[in-house]
Amino acid sequence: MSCGNPALILGNNPATAAHLSVYSLPGRPTQFRAGHMRNDPTLVGDAAKQPVTVAANCLLVKNAGPNQNLTILCDAGSGLHLPAATRSKLGIPDRDLLVENLAMLGVSLADIDIFISSHPHWDHIGGILDETGNLRLPKAHILLSRGAYQQNMENPAIEGQPSSFIPGMPEKLQALKQAGRLTLLSGDPSGLGGEGITCNLLGDAVRFYFSGGHSECQMHAVFLTDAGGVVFGGDFFPTAWHVAPERYMPQFDRDPKQLANEKELFLQRVRTGHWHISFYHDPQVAAARVLVGGPERYSSLIMGEEVRV
Ligand SMILES: [Zn+2]
Repeated sequence: MSCGNPALILGNNPATAAHLSVYSLPGRPTQFRAGHMRNDPTLVGDAAKQPVTVAANCLLVKNAGPNQNLTILCDAGSGLHLPAATRSKLGIPDRDLLVENLAMLGVSLADIDIFISSHPHWDHIGGILDETGNLRLPKAHILLSRGAYQQNMENPAIEGQPSSFIPGMPEKLQALKQAGRLTLLSGDPSGLGGEGITCNLLGDAVRFYFSGGHSECQMHAVFLTDAGGVVFGGDFFPTAWHVAPERYMPQFDRDPKQLANEKELFLQRVRTGHWHISFYHDPQVAAARVLVGGPERYSSLIMGEEVRV
């Protein structure tokens, strides 16, 4: 599956949908060094320094919530607020792919009712800001994990200094909280093998799980459609290659051993639910069913075709 255009991952025909439908919605890609994306032992020397395209496959979910009338956006890609020189260095195109791809599905940022942030790193949450750094979701209610919120509050990014966070974001989140537009969800990785938690806004068809190996209290929404479940993988499973527990992102994951244990636990839950995982950073595979077992232990199914990982 190409990740350049929006595509229905699971759900009913949108023309007749009575229940939620999940779309892959590519935002603006960036470029990282290959060795930063993969702890692949064959990637050494110059090969590890080669730039690789890192996608930003957001999810758009339609017909969600107890009344099936809510539109959800999960993560938003990198932002327009970055200076032109930074964008050019990171290979980020000027085109606003998030808005363009939403329009292809007949949706605008003003239609988003709920924004779910997996974690507030710049390449995931930056797309909710405009060129001047202001929020461009006029009515959306934001869902974020309490742990990630606290981590950002305690480690605010400073302009001009390297950080995974965005300068000024803590103040914006606090303002949203005071306006009653931010809900913080609490959970921890011990629940990764269970049923997850729900929130009143979204009802039983959306479950939330929490992992800590990549970043503090990353949140993963699972959307239960009539055709199966879809996990928003965020940076827990950034690409199909990263599904195997021992594969992590050097320098980006805060605790590779914890991450491996969390993947082992959660993949069992994914398997029993026959869920798909969506891969936020994968330029080739938007989502796949993960098979656990067999000679390679982990592999993925996409559109009925198995993808070895
Ligand atoms: Zn990321």
